[in-house]
Amino acid sequence: MDGYRAGEECARCGGRCCRERGCSLSPEDMLRALSLEADEKKDRIKEALLRELSEKNLYAIDSFHDSGRDFYYLRARHKCYTFIGVEAMGECAALTERGCALPEEERPKGGRFLESKPDGGCVQHYTKEEMLRDWDPYQPVLKEIWDAFYPVFLADGTFDACDEAYFAWMRERGSARARHPERSAAENQS
Ligand code: SF4
Ligand code: SF4
Repeated sequence: MDGYRAGEECARCGGRCCRERGCSLSPEDMLRALSLEADEKKDRIKEALLRELSEKNLYAIDSFHDSGRDFYYLRARHKCYTFIGVEAMGECAALTERGCALPEEERPKGGRFLESKPDGGCVQHYTKEEMLRDWDPYQPVLKEIWDAFYPVFLADGTFDACDEAYFAWMRERGSARARHPERSAAENQS
């Protein structure tokens, strides 16, 4: 596997990184998931990506601001949310009580290249600069999908429904932990 293996501190930590935000994919991760090559035509990538996003629960398009523009990339999806990732933070949909559901070699690059540290100051080696370089050729495809769905999800209440579902899930998890404190202790040791 390229990247870093989870250290012993990850078992004690219980996946703080995955509870705060889904990790970022590289374009290679996306193309592997779509069974496509890098030189595939843009329309074919868009069609396959749209199918992957709408039929599975794994990834979301997200964005950050850079040099006065919105810059789009893919990351692991958050529980209860859609493939248009407007929420700032959330627990990754792939995180289970036993850790990440994906095999190590299939985890997104942002997960594989997060180096754990015993003091909790874990280091991300898949940097913003690399993401800007890697995802630049895919901006038109990602922006087209974003622009097609963002206004629809905003207008039809999808984003609000996702927020409500996530808060309900957090409340349910909180009360489950209160009922079964031994489960949360076991989670933090997995
Ligand atoms: S990489 Fe860091 S934050 Fe993530 S599980 Fe390991 S110790 Fe926790
Ligand atoms: S895909 Fe796996 S490693 Fe990445 S945030 Fe989700 S649970 Fe964590």
